[in-house]
Amino acid sequence: MSQVIRSPKMYDVCVIGSGAGGGTAAKILTEGGLSVVLLEAGPPVYPEKDFKMLMWPYELPHRGAGVGGHAGENFSEFLAPNGAWKIADEPYTSAPGSNFQWFRSRIVGGRTNHWGRIALRFAPIDFRSATRDGLGDDWPITYDDLAPYYDKVESYIGVFGTHENVSSAPDGMFLPPPKPRCTDLIVKKACDKIGVICIPSRLAILTRSVNGRLPCHYCGQCGRGCVTASNFSSSQVMIPPAMKTGKLTMITGAMAREVLLGKDGKAEGVSYIDKATLTEKRVNARAVVLAASACESARLLLNSKSSQFPDGLANSSGAVGRYLTDSVGSDGWGIIPQLEKMPPHNHDGVGGMHMYIPWWKFDRKNDFPRGYHIEFGGGREMPGVGEFNDLLHEEEGYGATLKKRARQVYGTGIGMAGRGEMIPNPDTYCEIDRNVVDKWGIPVLRFHFKWSEYEIRQAKDMQETFRAIIEAAGGEYKTKTPISGERPFGIAEGGKIIHEVGTARMGADPKSSVLNGYCQAHDVKNVFVVDGAPLVTNPDKNPTLTIMALSWRASEYLLDEAKKGNL
Ligand SMILES: Cc1cc2nc3c(=O)[nH]c(=O)nc-3n(C[C@H](O)[C@H](O)[C@H](O)COP(=O)(O)OP(=O)(O)OC[C@H]3O[C@@H](n4cnc5c(N)ncnc54)[C@H](O)[C@@H]3O)c2cc1C
Ligand code: SF4
Repeated sequence: MSQVIRSPKMYDVCVIGSGAGGGTAAKILTEGGLSVVLLEAGPPVYPEKDFKMLMWPYELPHRGAGVGGHAGENFSEFLAPNGAWKIADEPYTSAPGSNFQWFRSRIVGGRTNHWGRIALRFAPIDFRSATRDGLGDDWPITYDDLAPYYDKVESYIGVFGTHENVSSAPDGMFLPPPKPRCTDLIVKKACDKIGVICIPSRLAILTRSVNGRLPCHYCGQCGRGCVTASNFSSSQVMIPPAMKTGKLTMITGAMAREVLLGKDGKAEGVSYIDKATLTEKRVNARAVVLAASACESARLLLNSKSSQFPDGLANSSGAVGRYLTDSVGSDGWGIIPQLEKMPPHNHDGVGGMHMYIPWWKFDRKNDFPRGYHIEFGGGREMPGVGEFNDLLHEEEGYGATLKKRARQVYGTGIGMAGRGEMIPNPDTYCEIDRNVVDKWGIPVLRFHFKWSEYEIRQAKDMQETFRAIIEAAGGEYKTKTPISGERPFGIAEGGKIIHEVGTARMGADPKSSVLNGYCQAHDVKNVFVVDGAPLVTNPDKNPTLTIMALSWRASEYLLDEAKKGNL
């Protein structure tokens, strides 16, 4: 057996993962005076060197196409570093008939280096939807419990938006939004015509300076990472203040393997692989906060077996890995011929949508439960790598004629993406694959995933709405989707929307949930989970703002309990 290197130091808390949930916990716990050791599987990020914010496509290797032309599969060669659908040395498997996609980041800040910065609050009904329609379960907390923490997160990270009083999309503490662009106005006019609500979007991007961070200069390149930290990433906004306290010890390249249980039934530390030396090490802490991302935290719990918890730590309910959901996604696009005749005009803006369509049919009877929102975009922004690939397939000719056609059609397309709520089902979960381990010998996850008729009907409704909006704008809807097969109505593969949550859900009943309303394990009171795993439902709102609000709340609770000597 290999030797485990133990550090004699005892920290107050060990946090695993430095993304949305872990970064928030590290900030609140260290500012509250606790000593924290943060284990992060990835390397540090150096924005000036690592982010390609001001780079031309021709400056990239392979002119941006990536090795073998595959850059597009991971969004683009421009994407902020170390986030991908496939990670070397870290496989996962899908059960036959399931095709789960898992986007992971291995870098300080996790996927908050890569995310779209769409920052939406869940609505009061999202915490009580089971009471309304009998599907799934209610949360053990209400919107009112979380609202003060939404306020704190929004005020601290900076989110723009407007007060609209739409019940499915609660208002927040907003910075002023950027002005709508030409395509936003076209979509808004079309929506008004057909009775669909269209309002300014809500993104974690600064339109005014906040806490010394510079406001956005509208380069439109958020996905590459922002050198001026004008958009939110945990690496640039949560970790620096935690570091400043002098209470944070961050260990990068540290792949947590297992949470260690003491004889007293409490967690006493974490064992991890030091990737640089391939040795197994151990840190000791009075409390452990898992924030490795929803599925990775489930994996850690399931791999932390002991005589007290033979099925995985804090898993007496058997709920770890269960109740996995992703957002329902279906995309489409259309051409708006009136845009061909547009004079050149300024399309500068943030790297994301300026307007969006919140769920607007909340007061009707629909043929599917819950709802979805629509993200959209288009216009003449800086062309991306491979922008004209479709045109080259569709148009005859070359040289000046082809260039003229490219100039004519560029910016006339409007793309739409529906993002809706999935209901947890018994065929969708993750478990440990007994036959496969990663490079360090840690058993990997195996995914089971199935959409139900509810989600498929929702995707159908999305397609019909996209068409209605494009046609109301005088355009031609181009997307064609099958009505059956693997992806009816264009429904995305499970995991593809990168909103996977629910794998260690909170609940009032320890028999059917892993955590209480403070993200604290029912079974082991000094273990907390603060990523997407605690979420009971996965409403149409993207989950990250809620992950941060829950983590902030759980961390304040942990601080209180630590002060009272209760952990
Ligand atoms: C391209 C893209 C666009 C997105 N757009 C949006 C959006 O617009 N709005 C929205 O709300 N959400 C969006 N998301 C999702 C969002 O990024 C996630 O919901 C959020 O980052 C999850 O936070 P987390 O703390 O759970 O995990 P992560 O941010 O993934 O952080 C987990 C961290 O844990 C580390 N880690 C993992 N395993 C271990 C281990 N064993 N030991 C030590 N460290 C470990 C990882 O390296 C990582 O740093 C998007 C994601 C992507 C990739
Ligand atoms: S659009 Fe604004 S926030 Fe986004 S990368 Fe550019 S400057 Fe930063």
